[in-house]
Amino acid sequence: MNTPQLAHRRGIPAADSRKIQLIMNLRSQGIRSTAVLDAIERVPREIFVDAAYADQAYADQSLPIACGQTISQPFIVAFMSDRLEVTDRMKVLEVGTGSGYQTAVLAHLCRRIYTVERYRILLRAAEERFKQLRLTNITAIVGDGMKGWPSQAPFDRIIVTAAASSMPLALLDQLKVGGIMVLPIETSPGRQELQRVVRTEESYERQSLLPVRFVSLVPGMPREA
Ligand code: SAH
Repeated sequence: MNTPQLAHRRGIPAADSRKIQLIMNLRSQGIRSTAVLDAIERVPREIFVDAAYADQAYADQSLPIACGQTISQPFIVAFMSDRLEVTDRMKVLEVGTGSGYQTAVLAHLCRRIYTVERYRILLRAAEERFKQLRLTNITAIVGDGMKGWPSQAPFDRIIVTAAASSMPLALLDQLKVGGIMVLPIETSPGRQELQRVVRTEESYERQSLLPVRFVSLVPGMPREA
């Protein structure tokens, strides 16, 4: 791949040229929403990954973060954001803040995002990044996101970034009628698929989107949180 060299000749920093390449790849993989692609372009992924992986920040792969968790692959972040169909009037709930990368991308697309993470260390680091990026429409707390965020419910959109072993009922409850939830579900041991749930007047419509690999959604709080 000679893009970095080309970029060097035109005076584009290497990180920017890798980001441009990533956006082009996402587009060719079917991410059509320009709002989502713009949001990905606006979020510097290098500040969300550990320093040891900074050179891989724009490779389309998940990477390890603290507490044995992972920052999601950019394609999955873009795909989930796309299928959520978020607009700037919407209130969004995210379960599993992790590095805060998916949160920052959605913050550019929605009115306000509420995000819940079980590990205090991860949440504090994510909050620092939000401050650094001057993202002021994010409210983040440490807690068990499987319970949702009852005092802020209902939500227009809900995104879960860790795999549940069954549909989290509290989250279904906190979705507005007409609302959309996107989440990975473990369908059998070692197999996960991304699902999209649309709440209708009388029920919920479930659609399977993609096979995926996420860390597990874990109930309750870790001892050291
Ligand atoms: N979107 C994040 C992905 C982080 S991995 C990113 O791109 O960085 C999923 C996160 O979900 C982990 O940080 C894990 O600690 C968190 N998690 C798992 N179960 C949870 C629960 N019940 N409540 C809140 N967070 C949870």
